[in-house]
Amino acid sequence: MKRLAILGSTGSIGQSTLSIVEQFPERYSVATLAAGRNVDEAFVQTSRWRPRVISMATEELAAELGKRLRQAGILGVDVVHGSAGTVVCSTQADVDFVVSAIVGVAGLEATHAAILAGKPVGLANKECMVAAGEILTSAARERKVPILPIDSEHNAVHQCMRAGAHNEVKTIWLTASGGPFRQYPLEKFDSITPEQALKHPTWVMGRRITIDSATMLNKGLEIIEACRLFDVPPSQVRVTVHPQSTVHSLVEYADGSILAQISVTDMRLPILYALAYPERPTSNLTFDLAHLRHLDFEQPDFARFPCLRLAYEAAAKGGVHCIALNAADEVAVEAFLQGVIPFMGIPRTIEAVLASTSEAHPGTIAEVLAADGAARERARAVLA
Ligand code: MG
Repeated sequence: MKRLAILGSTGSIGQSTLSIVEQFPERYSVATLAAGRNVDEAFVQTSRWRPRVISMATEELAAELGKRLRQAGILGVDVVHGSAGTVVCSTQADVDFVVSAIVGVAGLEATHAAILAGKPVGLANKECMVAAGEILTSAARERKVPILPIDSEHNAVHQCMRAGAHNEVKTIWLTASGGPFRQYPLEKFDSITPEQALKHPTWVMGRRITIDSATMLNKGLEIIEACRLFDVPPSQVRVTVHPQSTVHSLVEYADGSILAQISVTDMRLPILYALAYPERPTSNLTFDLAHLRHLDFEQPDFARFPCLRLAYEAAAKGGVHCIALNAADEVAVEAFLQGVIPFMGIPRTIEAVLASTSEAHPGTIAEVLAADGAARERARAVLA
């Protein structure tokens, strides 16, 4: 029985993880939950799963949840809060596996603490790898702690990497759906509205990641994530646009063989893979190959999606550049969603922030968070 800490339990990855626990009660149980801001959902999850510890984003929210639990007669659940609270969740002695699915750098400290405590991590939070990948992967190597990617592309790569040795890998091919604007006229890009950008053709996801898919900055973050997770230079990571999102990614080997992973577009499968690794339990997440008609692949258009170029540049520089790429994007996406800047204002803001970014390489999580805050301030200054 694996006892799980689920960081980001009320988000879509968190909910999918709980549905895996529901399906495999003999394999998994819930030890702790970090639930964020949604008190109603946190209450429902606590009633259903009875974690020993649950963390909320703030002290006020923790107090509110605590009160509701007492009124409902649910006792014996420790309600904690803030980033210290998420660290408590990820490092409890009885936790066997940590699912890191808090969006943004808010999940960074708890993920790092989990690795230091020797807990295997299923990583759904790509910002952690982008902002602090150098620190997280070296801590994981030192302590021999596995980091299993839950991001669908990296999960596919992880699966394909089992077919050969690291030095036999020629290219990691990340697939991209291309988002809703793959064929949209480039001259109309600045009039794209948030409503248009929030409609993703194949995946239902959170708001920021949906906009990041539309600008392809999401794929840019995934290039950096792949470099760090699989210890390869940016020149060995390429993107291919695959509108069907059926092939989740591919690995090309030195001998010319290319291995692809195909499955249903359902995040429960990469979650199950990470939780069960190296086993493959029987699941109902089947893909009907008989109905597969065609697979399209095309080159990404760097003129349409300048975020891809910016990500390659940041990946080559590493350190603070990757932190700034992510931080500036988050600020710019929020401004776009509020109607403050046009769609192409997102890459323009990121480019301006990167131009004023130093070449430093933070050595601690505190330095990463400071660089993240500084980049956000520069992004707000650019917008103002
Ligand atoms: Mg992905």
